[in-house]
Amino acid sequence: MANLFEGLENLGLSGAGNMKLYDQEKEAKAATAAKEAVKEASEEDYIFDKSFKCPVCDKTFTAKATKTGKAKSTGFDPDLRPHYQGIDTLKYDAISCEKCGYSAVTRYFAVNPTSGQIKLIREGLKSFSGLPKTEGIYTYDDAITRHKLALACCVMKHAKASEKAYTCLKIAWLLRGKAEEGVAAGVPEAEIKALKEQELEYISGAYDGFNEAFSHENFPMCGMDENTVTFLCANLAHEVHKDDDAMRLLARIITARDVNSRIKDKANELKEQIKAGK
Ligand SMILES: [Zn+2]
Repeated sequence: MANLFEGLENLGLSGAGNMKLYDQEKEAKAATAAKEAVKEASEEDYIFDKSFKCPVCDKTFTAKATKTGKAKSTGFDPDLRPHYQGIDTLKYDAISCEKCGYSAVTRYFAVNPTSGQIKLIREGLKSFSGLPKTEGIYTYDDAITRHKLALACCVMKHAKASEKAYTCLKIAWLLRGKAEEGVAAGVPEAEIKALKEQELEYISGAYDGFNEAFSHENFPMCGMDENTVTFLCANLAHEVHKDDDAMRLLARIITARDVNSRIKDKANELKEQIKAGK
């Protein structure tokens, strides 16, 4: 094939004689696609710096947040812990003010505390000395610290039982995520066991809180309808070895008329699993 670019050398394009009309373009495209694919797997691509205004000290600060709709759902654990490809979005679900330390899970950070609660939070956080530095993404430890701070703020502001329960549940899920990461990285078994024990403490806290919320609060609760919370509690009860409680909650779902078939099927599955002693 003739050199289609002959003569361009005279214009200073010394490489023109080696140019290919199509192949190079294809190769370049393939290289870009490969780069994008590698980039796709990076957690950093799913997050961004989001601005928040602290309702307690009024300072504007940035925290990492996940990009809406970017991460692809890959399913749920039986207790509804969500999984996403390439990122554990749960790590970014507590917002902490870097100045005063006020923290809450995203759903509740948007709800401004009352002036009485702000007073209590300021008092509770008066010796707050700052958050540990983070680099790019949050590690599980970064996330757990922020969520624990959120749980402490729940106690300071006398939050509803459901908010405390929901925050406990998120910490339990983070500990589970940390353990899974640890298993994959070959962390010693004793450390994994310790994480599992801590997780159960928070599952137990979540179960107690939701139980209390059942009798004192209305639905929807933490964005969930009554049947979803009941199903969640049945799973939490099973996790903390309160199988009688779990069976009682499952019976409620199985006999209810307004339950969607997916939850009813899941409830039947758990019932059979408990009966089989699993
Ligand atoms: Zn603040």
